[in-house]
Amino acid sequence: MGNVDVAVIGGGPAGLNAALMLVRARKKVAVIDDSRPRNRVTREAHGFLTRDGISPSEFRRIAKEEISAYPTVSFIEDTAVSITGTDGNFRIETARGQIVHSAKILFAVGMKDQPLSINGLAEVYGKSAFVCPYCDGWELRDKPLVIINSGGEAMHFAKLISGWTDRFTFCTNGPDGLTEEEREELKRHGVPVFESPIQFIDSADGMVRQVVLEDGTVIPCEGIFFKPELVTGSDLPKAIGCEVSDSGMVVVDEFGKTNVPGVYSAGDSASRRYQAISAAALGAFTAAAMNNELNMEAWGRREESL
Ligand SMILES: Cc1cc2nc3c(=O)[nH]c(=O)nc-3n(C[C@H](O)[C@H](O)[C@H](O)COP(=O)(O)OP(=O)(O)OC[C@H]3O[C@@H](n4cnc5c(N)ncnc54)[C@H](O)[C@@H]3O)c2cc1C
Repeated sequence: MGNVDVAVIGGGPAGLNAALMLVRARKKVAVIDDSRPRNRVTREAHGFLTRDGISPSEFRRIAKEEISAYPTVSFIEDTAVSITGTDGNFRIETARGQIVHSAKILFAVGMKDQPLSINGLAEVYGKSAFVCPYCDGWELRDKPLVIINSGGEAMHFAKLISGWTDRFTFCTNGPDGLTEEEREELKRHGVPVFESPIQFIDSADGMVRQVVLEDGTVIPCEGIFFKPELVTGSDLPKAIGCEVSDSGMVVVDEFGKTNVPGVYSAGDSASRRYQAISAAALGAFTAAAMNNELNMEAWGRREESL
C-alpha cells in the first residue's frame, strides 16, 4: 500500500463522510475498517434524513459506492493494529500485515459496548432492547416497556420516555439510587420501580416477552431501554498518546484535533452525540479542518522552495 494524505481508521458514518470530503478536496485517502459498528446489531437505523429506516450495512454500501466515484480513495477491510511515526509520516500496520503510510490520521473508531452483563440481554439487543429513544422510540410508541437504569439518570429518562409511551416500569437492577422526592415523583406519575436484581430476560426471536427479577417478580413488556457501558472503539488512540477521557472519549478541540500533532478524531469516539447524522457531520467538519492543515503545510513548503 502506498502513501496517502489521510488514513481514516473506521468506516462508519464519521469516517465515510470524512473520506468523501477529503477525496473531493483531491486528497489521497485510505479507509481502514473492520466492519464492527455499534449499530450492527440493529435491522434499521432511523433519523438520518433521506435514509430513515435503512439497514446499517446498506447505508455503508451506498456510502462506499458514492466515495468510490472519486479516484483517490482506497478501502482496506482490515483492523489497524499498530501506528508508529509522527505528523507527516505515520506508518499504520493492519492485522493482516498491510502497511499504510499517511501524513495525517483520523480516528473514526466509534465506541463499543462492554459485555452486557444481564442474562438474556444480548439476545434482544438491537431487536427489542435499545439505548436511544430518538433512534428506536417511535417503533416502541405506546408499548409497555421496561427501563433498566437507576439514580438521577433514571429520573431524567422517565421524563424523556414519557413522550413516547406512558406504559413503562423501572428495573434498577439493585439499589435505585433515587432520592425520596424522586421516588414520590415517580409514584405520582404511576411509574413502578423495582430494585430486585434482574434474573433474566425472557424472549423469543429477539423479541422480549418479560423481565424476571430475582425476587420472583415477572414484568411482561414489549421493549427495553437500557444504559450501556461504553469504551472507545479502539485502543490505538490511547496507544499513540491521545488523551482519552474517563468516559472513553478521545479528547479533541473544536476542529477534531487531538493532543497528538497530525492526529484527529471524529464521530462517536470523540463526542457524546451518538447519532449517525451527528457522527457524519463531525466527520465532514473534521475532514475540512484536516484538509485545511494539509493545504497550509503544502503552501508553506512551496513558499520555502521559491
Ligand atoms: C443499538 C443501537 C442502535 C442505534 N440506532 C441508531 C439510529 O437508529 N439512528 C442513529 O442516528 N444512530 C443510531 N445509533 C448510533 C449510531 O450507531 C452511532 O452514532 C454511529 O454509528 C456512530 O458512527 P461512527 O462512525 O462514529 O462509529 P461507528 O459507526 O461505530 O463506526 C466505527 C467503525 O470503526 C471500526 N474500527 C474501530 N477500530 C478499528 C480499527 N482499529 N481498525 C479498523 N476499523 C476499526 C469499527 O469496526 C466500525 O466499523 C445506534 C446505536 C446503537 C448501539
